[in-house]
Amino acid sequence: MAKKFNRIMLLTLALSPLGVSAAHWGYEGQEAPERWGDLDAAWQTCHQGRNQSPINITHTQPAHLRPLQARYSSGPDSLLNNGHTIQANFSENNNKNTLSLDGETFVLKQFHFHAPSENTIHGKHYPMEMHLVNQDADGEIAVVAVMFEVGNTNPELEKLWHVMPPEADKSSAIETTINLNALLPKQKTYWRFSGSLTTPPCTEGVRWMVLKHPLTLSRTQLELFTKTMRHANNRPVQKLHGRVVIE
Ligand SMILES: [Zn+2]
Repeated sequence: MAKKFNRIMLLTLALSPLGVSAAHWGYEGQEAPERWGDLDAAWQTCHQGRNQSPINITHTQPAHLRPLQARYSSGPDSLLNNGHTIQANFSENNNKNTLSLDGETFVLKQFHFHAPSENTIHGKHYPMEMHLVNQDADGEIAVVAVMFEVGNTNPELEKLWHVMPPEADKSSAIETTINLNALLPKQKTYWRFSGSLTTPPCTEGVRWMVLKHPLTLSRTQLELFTKTMRHANNRPVQKLHGRVVIE
């Protein structure tokens, strides 16, 4: 039970709008990713961990994984600008969006965006990456990542971007219905590996699934995100330390 509580606290710390921890972190200067491990004693895993995310996906092992088993049916109800990302949140008791993985059920807690992408494919960044953060009853985390390339306007993203809070620590209500399936590619094949949260405290033991097929967003949509963030919000790729990516 204590372990479960700790896990949830860590998740809350990492994902909370205002941050419970006294230390500040960011993507530039004194708060840049290279310094996260020094900024707070509780964030040492950011430096010392050997299963850190994101990664560059190059060599993979075939494992004949089944396509992603996600049943996401109920949209988020608020959009938060926490200064680090733009994050869509669900009401506390929303357990409708589930992911079946390893014989367990995970519930979608929130999703957010990074530009450029955090994970890279053969050394290449996509312009944007979405992370859907799922958690099971024991507090274990599974992140589903979707890449975006510049192309046609994404109508589902447009509904979210329409209410994007321009300032940090501001949240807005999502009045329209967001179809989460439209924010996932039709083909749900993916690369899988073990990793971490990509923000402090960089907690490990996170199951990562990066979907192979990207979605599109328009240049205008990408610019609205990057201008609102005012800086890139991707952690650099981390060493594999012997980890294997399966597909
Ligand atoms: Zn993320």
